[in-house]
Amino acid sequence: MFRIGCQISSARGYLAMGREAVKIGANTFQFFTRNPRGGRVKALDRADLDAYLEFAAEHGLADLLAHAPYTLNPCSAKEEVREFALQVLREDLERLALLPGTMYNFHPGSHTGQGTAVGTAQIAAALNSVLSEGQTTIVLLETMAGKGTEIGSSFAELAAIIAQVEQADLLGVCLDTCHVHEAGYDICANLDAVLGEFDRTVGLERLRAVHLNDSRNPAGARKDRHEKIGQGQIGLEAIAHVINHPALRDLPFFLETPNDAAGYAEEIRMLRELYEPQPGREDQL
Ligand code: FE
Ligand code: FE
Ligand code: ZN
Repeated sequence: MFRIGCQISSARGYLAMGREAVKIGANTFQFFTRNPRGGRVKALDRADLDAYLEFAAEHGLADLLAHAPYTLNPCSAKEEVREFALQVLREDLERLALLPGTMYNFHPGSHTGQGTAVGTAQIAAALNSVLSEGQTTIVLLETMAGKGTEIGSSFAELAAIIAQVEQADLLGVCLDTCHVHEAGYDICANLDAVLGEFDRTVGLERLRAVHLNDSRNPAGARKDRHEKIGQGQIGLEAIAHVINHPALRDLPFFLETPNDAAGYAEEIRMLRELYEPQPGREDQL
């Protein structure tokens, strides 16, 4: 089945997010676990969570993606920033245990001058200290554009992090189409080759979600500027290949394009039209 949704504001709680998702034609969605630029987590409203779970079951919402705040950086040169990252990871994972089947996505981090080797080791160390046996939430490393000292703009860096994590069975990758394009992977002309390289370095079985974005910039720009679907440098044709690719088509897709609710509804409608059901499979749309 085509799992498609978008970023939805968590300001009014879980049930409000569920209602919004259904209203715009989504069957999944992504939300921030707390203010993306801030820190503290809001108190949990149990009644709201229970109401959401009932609503989600009724309306077929599933495969949600929780996004960690941008302020999370497990490989900062500053110790207090690394400490804060550990606290956020612990709190978020504890909370997500209450939302079974929801995956947790985070930006691996920026090494702030320490270098890639130190950075990947610190990210892995943070994961080693927060991931524990019996935990079920799958944690996704997001592919990054490579702005500043960002780690994760090459598949090799993601592989290096995963290789140093003990509970690696809990780790996956979220492929952001804008980010990989801006990192220099040519998904427009050569999606097969890019996914082939991903398979050789990380392994396609790690790929668990896709951030579906067009990009304002040419490939390799490393600036990270999202654009509406079909209105950027990636273009509608390449986006259509992404959602129909055999290695990707069964993953959940999340739009993070500059849109209001009406814009997201229109993109979801358009993408459903571009998604090609496979012959012999009736569970596609
Ligand atoms: Fe992200
Ligand atoms: Fe993203
Ligand atoms: Zn981005």
